[in-house]
Amino acid sequence: MRDYYEILNVSKDASQDEIKSSFRTLAKKYHPDLNPDNKEAEQKFKEINEAYEVLSNPDKRRKYDTFGHAGVNGQGGYSQDFGGFGDIFDDIFDIFGGGFSSGSSSRRRGPVRGSDLRYDLDLDFMEAVFGVEKEIQVRKSENCETCHGTGVKPGSSKITCKKCNGSGEVRYAQQSPFGQFVRVATCDECGGTGEIIKDKCSVCSGTGKEIKNKKIKIKVPAGVDTGSIISIRGEGEVGEKGGPPGDLFIYIRVREHEIFKRKGNDIYYTIPISFTDAALGAEIDIPTLDGIINYTIPEGTQTGTQFRLKNKGVPNVRGVGKGDLFFKVEVDVPKKLTNKQRELLKEFAKENGESHKQSKKGFFDKMKDAFGN
Ligand SMILES: [Zn+2]
Ligand SMILES: [Zn+2]
Repeated sequence: MRDYYEILNVSKDASQDEIKSSFRTLAKKYHPDLNPDNKEAEQKFKEINEAYEVLSNPDKRRKYDTFGHAGVNGQGGYSQDFGGFGDIFDDIFDIFGGGFSSGSSSRRRGPVRGSDLRYDLDLDFMEAVFGVEKEIQVRKSENCETCHGTGVKPGSSKITCKKCNGSGEVRYAQQSPFGQFVRVATCDECGGTGEIIKDKCSVCSGTGKEIKNKKIKIKVPAGVDTGSIISIRGEGEVGEKGGPPGDLFIYIRVREHEIFKRKGNDIYYTIPISFTDAALGAEIDIPTLDGIINYTIPEGTQTGTQFRLKNKGVPNVRGVGKGDLFFKVEVDVPKKLTNKQRELLKEFAKENGESHKQSKKGFFDKMKDAFGN
């Protein structure tokens, strides 16, 4: 017989929560309803339940830890002791609660939440930075307007289902790894509603639903980026049997900007400056998210120097703070010179001669040292 901890895939010092969580995962995986006619899964499911029965009970767990299987088998173990049966079953129904529906299974009739929908929304760079209001059109199911979701032709009414007498459920005996038990299943005649529609609504053919293109206004907050998701409650598909509608999830994609590159909430770009501006220093026009501003670069600015404008980046999507703006200067070396410019530069070089040569010399000396000549 395998070790119970091993069966549940937990360590010997696992907490009750860890044991429970692992049990749920495994029970879901090997549940007979999901693995019809699979003997191996059935065996595993049995093992998992047996292991959980012991390890979830502090007293039994202690005995098992001390005496091994002998410590718990003597007093009945899982197969004879149905004390824990309800617990285990509650857990399984818990796992399958909500929107789970497997068609063949023992789901009781009842409201089912509508499906969630996804919509991909493309935004311009600036729309994402500053936020925007958009109207989108989503194709989805809504309650039929003619019959208000009932599926019944106006003026007509529903009649009680004869198969289930209006309960929506049928009961029958079922074999399971636990032994025989009564199983409650959705009535196939009425689909669990307990009622049969005699005269169906002609607009929706009795489904109670209509596929519609619905226009929805959404407010995109400032600071969203590609990968941001906006959820809009209740704008998914309509629910079944009076269940709530699903949600609509808007997935944001942001188009690139010609100049600005965004990293998180910071903005980066490179701007060309003339070599005279770089040498003399100058007031230059700098694009920011809010428009063009004047910025003074100092005398002797080297190519590749990066400047930072604090709080000139993208607003944080949570509404607190802003990123920074970084711009790098790239010195443009002129490719064509007029005769006059050429003369002036020669003049400049002559004027610069002494120190120019010296710095060059220093560089070449260093190079010689490095290569050992
Ligand atoms: Zn209708
Ligand atoms: Zn029925």
